[in-house]
Amino acid sequence: MSRTMDVQRERLPGLIRSDYRQTAADTGLAQPSDAVLHALQEVPRHLFVQKAFQDSAYSNSPLPIGNGQTISQPFIVALMTDLLLLKPSDKVLEIGTGCGYQSAILSLLAKDVHSLEIVSDLYKLSTERLVGLGYENVHVRLGDGYYGWQEEAPFDAILVAATADSLPEPLLAQLAPGGRMVIPVRDAEGREILQLVTKDAEGQLQVKDTIGVRFVPLTGGH
Ligand code: SAH
Repeated sequence: MSRTMDVQRERLPGLIRSDYRQTAADTGLAQPSDAVLHALQEVPRHLFVQKAFQDSAYSNSPLPIGNGQTISQPFIVALMTDLLLLKPSDKVLEIGTGCGYQSAILSLLAKDVHSLEIVSDLYKLSTERLVGLGYENVHVRLGDGYYGWQEEAPFDAILVAATADSLPEPLLAQLAPGGRMVIPVRDAEGREILQLVTKDAEGQLQVKDTIGVRFVPLTGGH
């Protein structure tokens, strides 16, 4: 690791804490959980970004990962993960594997992660990388995440990393009772809002808006 990376890596938890404080009124979370901060310290983000951006790997900003896609800002990765309130026994579905960084974070906090990626090059790269780094409880598949992963459902938690025009019905159906989903959704004015969807024990859904975000669109033929 370079000196720049070391310095940024040390500063990152402080920056994330500050982002949490500034958004607490909308997210309901005053600070990151220790478990999530620990996972962020554990996963080597510089091994998930392109070589040209490695030096910025621990800055609190999104970075390009190729194929016109981006890896989310560490604060957003932390927030989305925290909103899921993961338990070590949880089975998680992720839509949009990208470079595999978020999958690696989730894999440290849950039992299993099933992740879908629609771009073939990214699917191949992230699979190789996750296997190479030893994240054995992450399972990546090539496909349109809008439809979820029916054979593996239900999921205790679902994380969607691309903006949908509305809540995808198949994903709502594949959420377990008591489960939680975080997903950016475009509103009537075209703004992207990170929504938290919870399903209670009776299967009733509740949707809560949190903060405005910027993600790539959820593509595919749906
Ligand atoms: N979480 C990722 C960042 C994801 S960027 C990371 O840590 O790197 C969003 C990803 O969603 C992109 O890789 C994009 O190709 C993928 N994507 C977009 N629409 C999709 C769809 N319908 N199904 C699966 N993946 C999709």
